[in-house]
Amino acid sequence: MTTKEYRLKGCMLGLAIGDAMGAPVEFMQRGTFKPVTGYRSGGKFRLNAGEWTDDTAMALCLAQSLLDCQGFDPADQLEKYLLWMHEGYMSCTGKMVGLGKTCMRTLIRYRRTRQHYTDITHEKFSGNGSLMRLAPVCIYCVNDIKTAVNYAALSSKTTHGSPIAVDACRYFSYILVSLFNGMEKEMLFSDAFKINVRLFFKNEPLHPVLNHIVAGEYQNKKEDDISSSGYVIDSLEAALWSVYSTSTFKDAILKAVNLGDDADTVGAITGQLAGACYGMPAIPEDWILELGRRDDLLDVVNELLK
Ligand code: MG
Ligand code: MG
Repeated sequence: MTTKEYRLKGCMLGLAIGDAMGAPVEFMQRGTFKPVTGYRSGGKFRLNAGEWTDDTAMALCLAQSLLDCQGFDPADQLEKYLLWMHEGYMSCTGKMVGLGKTCMRTLIRYRRTRQHYTDITHEKFSGNGSLMRLAPVCIYCVNDIKTAVNYAALSSKTTHGSPIAVDACRYFSYILVSLFNGMEKEMLFSDAFKINVRLFFKNEPLHPVLNHIVAGEYQNKKEDDISSSGYVIDSLEAALWSVYSTSTFKDAILKAVNLGDDADTVGAITGQLAGACYGMPAIPEDWILELGRRDDLLDVVNELLK
């Protein structure tokens, strides 16, 4: 397997691993739970160890849609999310768990209007629900960063139309595809990368609320300054901070989920990033072996690359 394939698989597995690690402590306040050191059962959805939630299920729906349609089809993506909501399609346990508020409102409205892009575009609805499932779009467009960034935006707009959520996805897709194509972790956190980002987004600049993230201000922050809420800017910052302040896949994931609050989703975003940085061989073997539907997650990457 090439380094590129390892990074693509690391990203997809990382998403699910972070989700499964964080799910048992989702909604818990930092410091109030026994620190996570590996998979455990429990949490709001009473999952078994290694099982995951909406973050990974929606990512698998998105991946399957790209495969079935041989490309980007917003209506088919929404149909698959609905199938997940109603029948547990692509879920880990056969049942839908963890549907977010913005997704729910969009999907209920879609059922009635069949409108491909959500009209929930107000900035106050800037949750992390489109960022958490982004990996398949970046894997599918690994050889075309401009299309990846464009589809990242559109994939957000099916459920999260806020310009903040959309631009968090554009920025994160640029990072993931750069990593897939050989960028090293040191470069991601360098001044040179900040310049690349500014140049790439010159014609369609990112929303100004992302400025402090693009500038790398999280690199000087302590844990107390990092929020792990469901606001997409907080989740994105927490993920970057978790990878920046550690040096292995394992430590990045544990750092992220032990922040508590939206632990599964901050874990899923951190997992995508850490997996794309370090690649699949850097993931602890037992974390892969004990992960729900691990073969399906790996198969989907193989199919997306065909
Ligand atoms: Mg979840
Ligand atoms: Mg969550």
